[in-house]
Amino acid sequence: SSSRCSVIIIGAGVSGISAAKVLAENGVDDLLILEASDRIGGRIRKEDFAGLSVELGAGWIVGVGGKESNPVWELACKSGLRTCFSDYSNARFNIYDQNGKIFPSGLAAASYSKAVDSALQELRNQEAKLCGHFTASEPPSSPKTPIDLAIDFILHDFEMAEVEPISTYKDFGEREFLVADERGYEFLLYKMAESFLFTSEGKIVDSRLKLNKVVRDLQHSRNGVTVKTEDGCVYEANYVILSVSIGVLQSDLISFCPPLPKWKMEAIMTLDVIVYTKIFLKFPSKFWACGPGTEFFIYAHERRGYYTFWQHMENAYPGSNILVVTLTNGESKRVEAQSDEKTMEEAMGVLRDMFGPDVPNATQILVPRWWSNRFQRGSYSNYPILGAKQTFADIKAPVGPIFFTGEHTSEEYSGYVHGGYLTGIDTSKALLEEMRGEGERKEESKKFL
Ligand code: FAD
Repeated sequence: SSSRCSVIIIGAGVSGISAAKVLAENGVDDLLILEASDRIGGRIRKEDFAGLSVELGAGWIVGVGGKESNPVWELACKSGLRTCFSDYSNARFNIYDQNGKIFPSGLAAASYSKAVDSALQELRNQEAKLCGHFTASEPPSSPKTPIDLAIDFILHDFEMAEVEPISTYKDFGEREFLVADERGYEFLLYKMAESFLFTSEGKIVDSRLKLNKVVRDLQHSRNGVTVKTEDGCVYEANYVILSVSIGVLQSDLISFCPPLPKWKMEAIMTLDVIVYTKIFLKFPSKFWACGPGTEFFIYAHERRGYYTFWQHMENAYPGSNILVVTLTNGESKRVEAQSDEKTMEEAMGVLRDMFGPDVPNATQILVPRWWSNRFQRGSYSNYPILGAKQTFADIKAPVGPIFFTGEHTSEEYSGYVHGGYLTGIDTSKALLEEMRGEGERKEESKKFL
């Protein structure tokens, strides 16, 4: 057992760290951060691969160059993070068929606008339903050919901006920058942590950050919270800020006593969890196209999402001979469950379809497993189109002394690093407000004693 502190923050991803920083800056320094894994960063995570740093989680700073300044872009500029401009709008003109032929750009453009039209039709149908209009609206046609399937996949699983105005692009701009820094995207978190936690030789050495502490049990009442971890430790606090992902909240990793109210659980279960997997492949030599407009390319197959979206790393790390292929959802889960050798074999088959039989074997492969990871259970949240406003309010609302934060509690920027960062700040501000109110109430009652 240990002494009681003001606030326990569960999770040391971007939202947990930004929440803790705001508390510390406002004089709440008897805080404790409990993190399940052996490192800070959460879904911002670099890994050494073939002598370089690659980003298994967040890779881009999304939303740059607009009327407002993206706070994550500001942090990146301040800490001198190396980034490069990334533009995947060209990808649709680099679509390969199974015989290695590139689809003529006219055909790709036609298929693309058909897909956009059908996505818009779908949205109109949903809106009409919401307004109570049940008049026969045209059902969107579902894509069938490999090229239509490929374009449907990139439109829905990557771009989405074409379908609805996305706040990130509207507020912060439409440009995206790929992080290409040996210190990793996570260096931004380290810089944040450094401002309120003790560090030595580039490492956090502050006893208020506890790694390898898997929270399993939260007992809460009006008087505070008792937190139990897997290794049998017990911590007490007046308040908790819970920053674990929506996937973890949907799982049974943490039990609540008393249980979370029904409205809260319903909102939590409503959100979709997207799985997004970037597979890295290292080659002895380069066999793909390089130069302007080639960074991204697409493979059209009759199975939707089958090794569809490819990127070469020549802009980020020239001469590295690394390719990245992105899978999502069903394909991600399928690949997580099989051996990496099998995945390499499948990827090689696709590359030989695109670039011919002489493509050399990859020498290394890295397959992240965000879905199987019990501290993540997926990559990011996705709000349903219908009823998003109420769902969001319920997801964010505190339950007694438990405050919620994280990417999934952001009304405008869910799914992004800046969403996590900004909700950390918001949640701590709301908690500080609550603590001040509580302090005043105590003062008031003293007067009458
Ligand atoms: P997390 O980073 O998940 O932090 C929560 C922390 O809680 C974790 O460290 C976890 O270990 C810990 N935890 C969980 N359970 C427990 C427990 N029981 N006890 C104690 N600790 C626990 N965003 C972008 O802006 N650009 C991108 O390009 C981008 N690409 C992405 C690609 C992938 C593959 C993924 C996975 C995400 C991507 N994102 C991207 C999203 C972005 O990474 C997240 O929105 C953001 O990092 C979430 O931060 P968070 O603090 O909300 O959650």
